[in-house]
Amino acid sequence: MSIRINSNFDSGAIDVVSAEDADNIRLRIAADAGGEFRQWFHFRVSGIKGEQMVLKFEDMDTTAYPPGWENYKCRASYDRETWFQVDTEFDGKTMTVRHMGQADTIYFAYFAPYCRERQLDLIAEIGLHPACNVEVLGETLDGQDLDMLIIGDDWDHEKLKIWFIARQHPGETQASWWMEGMLRRLLDDSDPVSRSLLQKCVFYVVPNMNPDGSKRGYLRTNAAGANLNREWATPSMEHSPEVFLVDQEMREIGLDFCLDVHGDESIPYCFIANADAIPNCDPRLIELRKSYEANLAAVSPDFQTEHGYPETKPGEANLTIASAHIQNTHQALTMTLEMPFKDNDDLPDEFMGWSPERSRKLGQSCLDALWAIHGDLRK
Ligand SMILES: [Zn+2]
Repeated sequence: MSIRINSNFDSGAIDVVSAEDADNIRLRIAADAGGEFRQWFHFRVSGIKGEQMVLKFEDMDTTAYPPGWENYKCRASYDRETWFQVDTEFDGKTMTVRHMGQADTIYFAYFAPYCRERQLDLIAEIGLHPACNVEVLGETLDGQDLDMLIIGDDWDHEKLKIWFIARQHPGETQASWWMEGMLRRLLDDSDPVSRSLLQKCVFYVVPNMNPDGSKRGYLRTNAAGANLNREWATPSMEHSPEVFLVDQEMREIGLDFCLDVHGDESIPYCFIANADAIPNCDPRLIELRKSYEANLAAVSPDFQTEHGYPETKPGEANLTIASAHIQNTHQALTMTLEMPFKDNDDLPDEFMGWSPERSRKLGQSCLDALWAIHGDLRK
């Protein structure tokens, strides 16, 4: 039986070099708009039941993050719900994936995908809760709605304003699984941490900052090829309306805390990238950041503070990045949370690697850490 490869669906992306035989499939990762970033893939292979598949991903040394392929394991799924790791090797140039087909059709992806349809399902579900309002901030370049969820008593201006944003980088689907975990816990009417937080805070949540890149199957950019997490100094409606609209909303509403949720291609740990290096950073913000990290590490062994990005010298923060721009503008604690594509090497799972379920649980734990420090957030 002949095999067939297709990626013409929500968040699908791959370039097929040749696919005549199951044991000699040659692929190349497709580029985001603008051509600068290649790293995300998601495709289905049909006609493979009982076949020993060998997939060769070529030119991996020219992708956006070649170290991301070292000790990385490709994800696969038969039912599009459970994504497991498959046999993967990387020689510095070619990534080879081997797998025996157990059904007619299989899906492969960089990480468990979180498609746009699922996103809309989640927003519809959360939006039905009496404590939640859904506000459309505007339209993306592909004409999709940019949604914000408002959770809590937003008429009460005494309450702390807590912001969560995710998927600026659309290929970092961990961030959407994190959102599912966080949002469902926050709206659990029997959860004491959530109930207490909603007494004192209002939550402004942008579950997907980049709907166009998510649907198109990109790693890092929107439809215009803009890397949204480098647009915060000079966003525009023509090039980066997603950032323009959210930045404007943050200024109108105000902000006491913000977490921007991401995935990191190379580092096999969860960590915080801080904004300590903004000009004249208030030492209070650095102490708050350390306290948040310590509280998160205390409730989740999937979070740690030893491994992460190198420190930036004081005053030299890149203000095009969301966390630095927001912390500098609002003088309020703002952090980037990174989860791995590989695994947490302190607590590895051989079958799944880092997974949707572990991302959800970290989202739940982030509310515990927020609850521990919320009393100190008032400016
Ligand atoms: Zn990112």
